Amino acid sequence: MCIMDVITIKIPVRLEKKDVMAFLEELKGLAMNGENLIRQIKMECPLCDKVHEIEERARIAKTIIKGEEVYYEETYCFCQDSDEDENEFVTGKMENNNLLNSRNAYRKAHSLLTSDQIVAIRDMYGLSQVDLAKLLGWGEATISRYESKAIQDEAYDNMLRIIKENSLAVLELLQKMRTNLRH
Ligand SMILES: [Zn+2]
Repeated sequence: MCIMDVITIKIPVRLEKKDVMAFLEELKGLAMNGENLIRQIKMECPLCDKVHEIEERARIAKTIIKGEEVYYEETYCFCQDSDEDENEFVTGKMENNNLLNSRNAYRKAHSLLTSDQIVAIRDMYGLSQVDLAKLLGWGEATISRYESKAIQDEAYDNMLRIIKENSLAVLELLQKMRTNLRH
């Protein structure tokens, strides 16, 4: 269960607007302090150099993206055998996921497509990352960057939305690409 599930269950049904604001503030405080156990994994602990049960946990974390505060769900590992100064670490995979989560939180706040939504558009047309980038006349690595780390700006986001809604636009782009190949 992720933190968001817990939060959803707790929201009361009828509230005045001022109550909602107060409730949200309180919730933010709780989420910042609350830590959730996802599962236990037996692994070699990089903190104490022993093989033992490590707790995989999640919490709401805050980061700054493009000068703005962003709240997102972060996962990390916790070692019960280490002292308070250094009892947490992240695996490479967790680090990538945490970065992706924070960027997707920023995207949602700015009504930009999330990385998953970009993957879904690409899948819709059965195109590889390079092919979709070429189709749109972008650098070959552009789509790969948007699906992993970089946040697209509004103009690029609009292009992606156009081809999502309008398969005719994709056909036209394909046609143009074929014509260009012939010359
Ligand atoms: Zn340990």
